[in-house]
Amino acid sequence: MPTSNDLGNISRLSLRPLITCSCTICGADFEKAEGSRREVCSFQCKAERSRRYSRKYQADGRRVLAEFRSRFDGRDPTDEEILQLLDK
Ligand SMILES: [Zn+2]
Repeated sequence: MPTSNDLGNISRLSLRPLITCSCTICGADFEKAEGSRREVCSFQCKAERSRRYSRKYQADGRRVLAEFRSRFDGRDPTDEEILQLLDK
């Protein structure tokens, strides 16, 4: 019969290790699974991150859009592709 200690070890092994990161929006520490690309601590910060990117995108305006189009063979990039480019 397993002891409570054994059960604790089993559940640990079944999970990916957690690492502590700082939220890129509010700076709070949060835990995420190792290998996760998560950068924010909460849904609120995720929403704020999107707002910041859209503001940045609008501020640079048409010049940036023209640059994006040239990178994507003249088609409009998707929102996701824009965010990836702005991330760099
Ligand atoms: Zn946060």
